[in-house]
Parts: sequence; structure tokens; C-alpha cells
Amino acid sequence: MSIPRRQAIKIGAYIMKQRLAGRKKFPITLELEPLFACNLACVGCGKIQHPADTLKQRMPVEQALAAVDECGAPVVCLAGGEPLMHPQVEEIVAGLVKRKKFIYLCTNALLLPKKIDKLRPSPYLSLAVHIDGLEERHDASVAKQGVFAQAVDAIRDAQRRGFRVTTNTTFFNTDTPQTVMEVLDYLNNDLKVDGMMLSPAYAYEKAPGQDKFMGVEETRKLFREAFAGGRRDRWRINHSPLYLDFLEGKVDFPCTAWGIPSYSLFGWQKPCYLMGDGYASSYQELLETTDWESYGRGRDARCDNCMAHCGYEPTALSATMASLRESIRAAGSSAAPALLGGRRKHATVTVPRQESPAAATDAPRKIDA
Ligand code: SF4
Ligand code: SF4
Repeated sequence: MSIPRRQAIKIGAYIMKQRLAGRKKFPITLELEPLFACNLACVGCGKIQHPADTLKQRMPVEQALAAVDECGAPVVCLAGGEPLMHPQVEEIVAGLVKRKKFIYLCTNALLLPKKIDKLRPSPYLSLAVHIDGLEERHDASVAKQGVFAQAVDAIRDAQRRGFRVTTNTTFFNTDTPQTVMEVLDYLNNDLKVDGMMLSPAYAYEKAPGQDKFMGVEETRKLFREAFAGGRRDRWRINHSPLYLDFLEGKVDFPCTAWGIPSYSLFGWQKPCYLMGDGYASSYQELLETTDWESYGRGRDARCDNCMAHCGYEPTALSATMASLRESIRAAGSSAAPALLGGRRKHATVTVPRQESPAAATDAPRKIDA
């Protein structure tokens, strides 16, 4: 059984179990941030803006795993900061593998050559490397020359050693449909990574480069044009088809940030990993003490331009599971969403459905949470 197929089945079963138990709010992916420090200073990063004494802190392994156990989400994004700067990162990964969690270790890859011998390939582990564009674009985004070349070398080395490698790309208003296509073609066809995650950048209040973030219409136009002509089905994109429809502006739905909660050195962050309106001491407390109705587009100005997967992919996944039509579409998608559908290396490519120019500008179809 391919890794994502196993993952898809487990996550589908998990969502069904939550629904049968009558739970309306439950976690799907835990964003675990055991430190905020990083060895880069990317344009648009809101994590490295913490004071120096916070940046020095590292979460104990036991605390990280206790949060994973309490939350119960089947997928864990091990992020930061740069998680490979945590001196016991391999112990956290081993604890997660033991618990059969699907792990995305989100890294800029600079420390991979030093740390990779401490990690073991596993069906549960994906190295999710941050790549924001081709060489010039990526190096500008991370504000350091030579990082793209190092990341590519580290990806190739990890692939040779048998690791599953995915990528994580953030798009800004400096991107064009052409730059989106170029980077996805490169990652998909040249580097042959196992899956690609993409996200429009969120305008962190503390992030420098505030003029680089996109509005909702700008984001929709960018992805609609980049994905046009059935292109998106040729790429192994790690998202559900409904979330990609959402990015293109074909559908719209509310944020369900409780589906991707964030646990960091400060506790369970309210309401999501992008905004910090306080912290809870447990996931249950986060659910019970967050006023979820006050967040989302039209409710909080800080949410108005947000189309990030942490708010909207859980909604897309729940809507997919609730609809037979969408479930069949996700299972048959050659886009290989890691959370629901499998990577199909030798899949038949479906004939792309051509959108009429009128359809592309139609108002998005509304879907409830
Ligand atoms: S690599 Fe990630 S954590 Fe580090 S500065 Fe860049 S965006 Fe922030
Ligand atoms: S829309 Fe949701 S995910 Fe986005 S910033 Fe607001 S609460 Fe967070």
C-alpha cells in the first residue's frame, strides 16, 4: 500500500469516527512548534519576531509528546522556527513514529546534512522542505544567497537515502501565474518530490514586508490563472481538490481553525497558528474557551485576506467526507492530496475540464462548515 493511500484511509476513518461520535470540532493536523528560533530570517515570517529569551527556549520532548497525545490528531506538522535546531528533534520524531502519527517535518533543509543520519526513513515521516520559488526567487524570499542550491542538494540526498520528501511553498504578490507554474513544474518533474503544499502568505502583523501580501481576489486570480487548462491535475499537490477550488475562487467556505490547532512554547494558541489572541493549557480548553464565531472573513479584520490551509483545509476535508461526490473526486484526483487521496505515480492523467471564461469569474459556490 502506498504511503499516502494508507494515510488517506486512516484519516478518512478518523474523521468518520469523530462524526459518528457526534463531535463537531476535532483536530486533524497538529502544528507542533517546539521552538521559535531559526537559522534564516525570511521575508514575511512571523515566528522569528519573538524576543531573544523566547528564541532561546526549547520544548522538552515529554511536553511535546504529551500535547500530541492529548490532542489526538492523526497528522503532526513539526515546525517552528527550524525544528532541526531542536537538540532532541530525532527523539520527538521517534516518539511520533511510535504513535503512528503522519509527520511532516517542516524544514528549510540547511541542517539536513548534519542531522539526517539521526533520522530513519519511515512510512510515517515526510521531510517537508520550504521552497518558495526557483533559485533567485527563493533566495530573495529567505534573504540569503545559496539557500536554494543547498535545499535542492539536501532534497536529492534525502531521496537517495529513501526518505519521503515533500515541499512547502508560500506565494506573495511578487508571484505571477508563470512563477507558480515554473516552481511547481520544477518540484514535480525535475526534483520529483512526493507532494507539494502551497499557501498564499498570511499577513502576520509582526512580519516585515507587509506590502508583499495578497488580498483574496489577487490570490484567486493568481491560482485560477496558474491552474488553468487542467494544469493542476498534472502536479502532485498535497491538498484536497476542494481546497484548490477554494484557492481558485470556485468555492468559498468558512474557516474551521480548530481542525489544525497549534501548540507552541506558550501553549495552545488561539485561534490558529497565524494569530495569537492568548493561549489555552489544553486542546479541550482551546475548544471551549475560544470564541470561534468571532473569527473568519468579515468577522475579524485580521482574517480578511487569509486563505491559508490552516483555516480552510480542515473545512475542505470535512466537506469532502460529507459528500460522496467529493470523496470520489478526491480519491480519483491525480493531484495526490496527502490528507485524503494517495499519490499515484503511474496514474492515468484525467482529461482536463476546460473552464469557460465566464465560469472563471462566477461568484464562488458557498459551502457550509
Ligand atoms: S525558514 Fe521558516 S521559520 Fe525560518 S525564518 Fe523562514 S519562514 Fe521563518
Ligand atoms: S481566517 Fe482562520 S486561519 Fe485565517 S487567520 Fe483567521 S482564524 Fe486564523
